[in-house]
Amino acid sequence: MLGAVVIGIGTAGCVRIRDMLVPLRGSPAEKLAVKGFISRRSLEPQQGVSRISLEEALGRDDVHVAFICTENMSHEDNVRMFLQAQKHVCVEYPMTMSYKAAVELWDLAEEKGVILHEEHIELLTEEYKQLKKEVEGKTLQEGTLHFTGGALKPGFGFPSFSGIARLTWLVELFGELSVSAATLEEDPANSYSKMTAKLLTSDNRSLTWIEERQPGLPRAKNINFQFDSGPLTQIPPAPRGTVGLFMQDLIHFSAKLAGQVSPEELQRERVRVLHCLELAGKIQELCQG
Ligand code: NAD
Repeated sequence: MLGAVVIGIGTAGCVRIRDMLVPLRGSPAEKLAVKGFISRRSLEPQQGVSRISLEEALGRDDVHVAFICTENMSHEDNVRMFLQAQKHVCVEYPMTMSYKAAVELWDLAEEKGVILHEEHIELLTEEYKQLKKEVEGKTLQEGTLHFTGGALKPGFGFPSFSGIARLTWLVELFGELSVSAATLEEDPANSYSKMTAKLLTSDNRSLTWIEERQPGLPRAKNINFQFDSGPLTQIPPAPRGTVGLFMQDLIHFSAKLAGQVSPEELQRERVRVLHCLELAGKIQELCQG
């Protein structure tokens, strides 16, 4: 068994504890045993799991794995501490707020001989899987992905990083991208922000990614993809899967811990994660430049 701790008891952290307490039967997630959680708040036990100190988690021999579920801005420091202590790390996306820091963390994981995994539940949704099927084999002319959502809490960072799930969709659907322009409109008085990034595919097809947020805006993803064969303007409806998204991610992570994921697959994920973080950094630079 591998002992695990959860850092950050928000929505994601609570789900991590729940899933480790009741893992999918017959899956490699059964090999994880939650030993405690770490919080800046002095919380009572959560789901029967007790709070422990950061120092204890880093020092204990029966803690092998850390789940970093804090707000985005503190992921990097937490990941680094646990990798230094030679613990495997699963971090909720985005891993860091810069490409350079993510490269350093991945190098550190390699040096320490541990797994570094970034959760990407957006790639595990049935709607994404259905969309991927629809897009496969089609030639893109141009497209838009427009996300709307409510305001984010502090600590979630620049929209190209907090919205990396949408960027990851575009990269997984259309391959390596480059950034040609990006702007950010803000109206602080109304907590409004709209980031517009102009992206290009490797064969110079234009993709526009918009992240628009304001309190009360419905959480939605609108697409408009123009293909040689015609348009796709709606994400195809898909029934909900039987296994929860975080559970699917937990199984994938624990398969990595069990050595069941090929080096080629690990490398493919690393390249994709770093590519998205690099794009997010360029978008931020252009918006702030
Ligand atoms: P959250 O706001 O629920 O929790 C974030 C952090 O805030 C946690 O460290 C939590 O301990 C802390 N926190 C929450 N309430 C607090 C309070 N009252 N006082 C002090 N600290 C408090 O955020 P989340 O949705 O759990 O997101 C955490 C990470 O997971 C983020 O990196 C996010 O990108 C990622 N993520 C979340 C989801 C999701 O569905 N929630 C999905 C994918 C990725």
